[in-house]
Amino acid sequence: MEKVCSTIMTRKGLPVSNTNFRRCNVSKKVDIDWGKLRFDYMKTDLRYVSIWDNGKWDDGKLVEDNKLTISEASTALHYGQQCFEGLKAYRTKDGSINLFRPDENAKRMAKSCERVLMPEVPVDKFIDACIQVVKANEHYVPPYGSGATLYLRPFVIGIGDNIGVKPAPQFMFCIFCVPVGPYFAGGMAPVNFTTSDFDRAAPYGTGAAKVGGNYAGSMMPHELAVKQGFADCIYLDPATHTKIEEVGAANFFGITKDDVFVTPKSPSILPSITKYSLLHVAEHYLKLKVEERDVLIDNLDEFKEAGACGTAAVITPIGGIQYKGKLHVFHSETEVGPVTKDLYNTLYDIQFGDVEAPEGWIVKVK
Ligand SMILES: *Cc1c(COP(=O)(O)O)cnc(C)c1O
Repeated sequence: MEKVCSTIMTRKGLPVSNTNFRRCNVSKKVDIDWGKLRFDYMKTDLRYVSIWDNGKWDDGKLVEDNKLTISEASTALHYGQQCFEGLKAYRTKDGSINLFRPDENAKRMAKSCERVLMPEVPVDKFIDACIQVVKANEHYVPPYGSGATLYLRPFVIGIGDNIGVKPAPQFMFCIFCVPVGPYFAGGMAPVNFTTSDFDRAAPYGTGAAKVGGNYAGSMMPHELAVKQGFADCIYLDPATHTKIEEVGAANFFGITKDDVFVTPKSPSILPSITKYSLLHVAEHYLKLKVEERDVLIDNLDEFKEAGACGTAAVITPIGGIQYKGKLHVFHSETEVGPVTKDLYNTLYDIQFGDVEAPEGWIVKVK
């Protein structure tokens, strides 16, 4: 606790307007009904802010204010020069706190930054900032057993005075956190998806970068799918519309009838850290064969189970996929398949520290 406070006091960065140093009260209790949490914003105590100016990042600091004051001409506002990340902190049985593969989020954010001409945040700086934010908001990390977690939202935005379409003169790297509930409050259940006629990305566009522009364009197709009674839409490959790319804002996987874990490969898919973790879990923990390859929408019959994966839910089991007016059902519309359950439980237990993780996957906050 002491350490957190001294870090704040000694770190100096460019002054950010509207921000204050916090008081040293990290041990304070919060009044949260952990069981009722969903995926909603709430202001927590402290967030991390670092500014890039004159060719370098400053040291960064923790601030109380949850409002940003930036130029009205910031490239993040007009030209979508920004990117974001999402990862979680998990309370373990012994009371310690795990971050799950934050180095992978750091590397992915560096790639997103590179794609939209923003300065990369070094991996060490990224992980150090995550740890600072979790420590400074420790009382918001939900208890072990609640299934709830502390969600971290890192982002980089182009700021400063600018009017033409060109990289911003300054950048801001922030991380805030919110406690979020377990994705499946009433237990894991399959949901149905429908394919979309819209594309989320272009063949050589920004699909593989976690940049905001990809998501603005996804809200309307999502809403259309929901209005038709589906959980979300499935995007096919933008060039031919014959292969599965993404399930809303999650990656797709299927389990073939002879137990191969299959997930699509394409340069316009956002590389999900959960997906690559499940590939490893499938191969080394469940001893399945694994393949990254094309998944044809006309060949869904090859799968006995299917799911969507990402940090928020770990796995969302797919009951069925609607394509050209027909619903293709996998295992069942109401029950989760056994392989999907195994994959989910194993990765969940690794994240919460109940099953030994592959080397380097867990970073201890405390
Ligand atoms: C963030 C995201 C995912 C999931 O990635 P994780 O690293 O597993 O959380 C998948 N698809 C899209 C489009 C995303 O934005």
